[in-house]
Amino acid sequence: MQSTADHLADVRSRIAAACNRCGRDPSEVVLLAVSKTFPAEVVREAVDAGQRVFAESRLQEAEPKIALLPGSLEWHFIGRIQRNKVRRLLPLFTMLHAVDSLRLAQFTDSVAAELGLFPKVLLQVDIGAEESKGGFDPDTLRAEIGALLELPRLQIDGLMCIPPAGPDAKSARPWFVALRTLRDELRARTGAPLDVLSMGMSGDYEVAIEEGATHVRVGSAIFGSRRYRVDGELGAPQTGA
Ligand SMILES: *Cc1c(COP(=O)(O)O)cnc(C)c1O
Repeated sequence: MQSTADHLADVRSRIAAACNRCGRDPSEVVLLAVSKTFPAEVVREAVDAGQRVFAESRLQEAEPKIALLPGSLEWHFIGRIQRNKVRRLLPLFTMLHAVDSLRLAQFTDSVAAELGLFPKVLLQVDIGAEESKGGFDPDTLRAEIGALLELPRLQIDGLMCIPPAGPDAKSARPWFVALRTLRDELRARTGAPLDVLSMGMSGDYEVAIEEGATHVRVGSAIFGSRRYRVDGELGAPQTGA
């Protein structure tokens, strides 16, 4: 049986190979080990294998887990964000990946001001126009990007997407291209760098890297299959924080 360390080594070498294919430096790609549903002992195996950056999608699961692990780790929140959890999310997580409305962004900005924080956030885009998934509709984002970038506390570093489920890794490519293209358009219009593209999961992270992903969110390829699905189809956050 392969260990967590073996899986991690395999994922890292696939990331390096994908970077090679498209002339990128592997240091440009952050591997987020998605540890949702896995206990702290399993996360520790990944830590022992050198992994430092992890992602969780439910606050009530993440809080006790994070408390059991070394304070030197970096945690990203990739689940749907509920307003009543923002106050607890902000101090715990390095980056919130799924800010999905102007209203939520404004609210998060005001909580950040109260807490004296300048949180890094990404704007989730509903790139496949799927109602079940959160995210800005691209046209809404085009209309609201100015107001979003004016929020004084939020550091809006880029975009995130969870593309529609497809038959194979390649089927996600057009969605990754669409997210990058939208980013390029918003960057050209606003002058904001929006450098981060959070896209690619276990089934398609290599394709995502070829299309410009800076953060890949890989769970089952590292930790094995989850015993229960907290998040519904494709691991998309349906249940909220
Ligand atoms: C669960 C989850 C992932 C990881 O999915 P895997 O297919 O296990 O790699 C990535 N992104 C989000 C938003 C998730 O909820």
